[in-house]
Amino acid sequence: MSDALTKYKEELYCCTRCGTCKYIYHEYSDSCPAGKKFRFETFYPSGRIHIARGLLEGKLEWSERIRDILFACPTCGNCTIQCQSRHHNLIVDIIEALRADAVSKGIGPLPNQKAFAESIANEHNPYKELHADRLKWMERIEEEVPQKEKAEIFYFVGCTSSYRQKDLAQATIKILNKLGVDYTVSKDEWCCGSPLMRTGQLELVNDLVKHNLELIEKVGAKKVITSCAGCYRTLKTDFPKYAEMLEGVEILHITEFLQQMIKTGKLRLPKKFNALKVTYHDPCHLGRHSDVYDAPRTVIQAIPGVTLIEMPRIRENAWCCGAGGGVKSGFRDWAVEISSERIREAEETECEILLSACPFCKTNLQDAIQATNSNLKMKDIVNLLSELL
Ligand code: SF4
Ligand code: SF4
Repeated sequence: MSDALTKYKEELYCCTRCGTCKYIYHEYSDSCPAGKKFRFETFYPSGRIHIARGLLEGKLEWSERIRDILFACPTCGNCTIQCQSRHHNLIVDIIEALRADAVSKGIGPLPNQKAFAESIANEHNPYKELHADRLKWMERIEEEVPQKEKAEIFYFVGCTSSYRQKDLAQATIKILNKLGVDYTVSKDEWCCGSPLMRTGQLELVNDLVKHNLELIEKVGAKKVITSCAGCYRTLKTDFPKYAEMLEGVEILHITEFLQQMIKTGKLRLPKKFNALKVTYHDPCHLGRHSDVYDAPRTVIQAIPGVTLIEMPRIRENAWCCGAGGGVKSGFRDWAVEISSERIREAEETECEILLSACPFCKTNLQDAIQATNSNLKMKDIVNLLSELL
């Protein structure tokens, strides 16, 4: 019997194989990137649930084929929205439990995904970079970056902004400095654990959660702000599954914080753009997994001279960028295929800029812009905003 899966033994029987989860009903469009790609029942949510039942009942044996199917899913969560079953919100949890079982049985994860777990164990980041280089993104910027013992706000930078999308960390600093808030970053920050949780590699997770919570507690912060949608979901939704959360500490995505600052008049935005048309991609971690849809839109619409033109599939129905759930490392070409579909959708709005609010989405959408020779420009909302200051 599978271990992590036993927690869901009743919910698994709620799937009637009705197939509602395969499409976004009112858009007559596919909702599941895995199902759309492979077009076999086993790749759709219902097939995954039936694999889970088979394993749980001992009618199926673990195999590499089953592993490959289970890891071929960006855990976008669109099925949790489209499914009509009472336990619809648990589908991704079930997929992640299956992955944890695959890992504990030595069958999972996919080979590339093992490498980032090793890197996190050795250097506290999944990118095989030195922990000592975590704050190198500070170099060559004029802004002062505080590293204080005590501060009101802890800016949790995240591994992707620290090592791969440094301009997002730099732009965030520019905005926080402009606001004059009492904040700090820390050289002792570790990976939030998201890549491990998404791929079932849970061995190190308790240590990561404990370390980061102790760090925030030591600083005495009352707010944790992050500009990474993946870190945000992990800190806010996953950390409480592993540890007692710090009392009175609010976790905010940077767009939620900026929304507050704009609404209270603490952030005034000058006019620089003239009739700039932008569209917005909802990151799965921020949207479906965290229910944050309005804050990024409020911030975009507050920028003078900018018009937001929406794509057909937005908010809870947004098409995934394809990077999440270990797909970017496990299925590189397919990840870009998924984001290329999003790029085509964004192009139909005839906007100049595609915005998002996650460095991981930005990376994969940018890869698709290159792969499709698109003229779209890809930016994070924070980067666009920082151009005004
Ligand atoms: S999480 Fe996304 S890709 Fe995975 S089964 Fe659900 S809809 Fe399909
Ligand atoms: S996962 Fe939900 S929507 Fe999909 S087939 Fe099962 S019950 Fe129907």
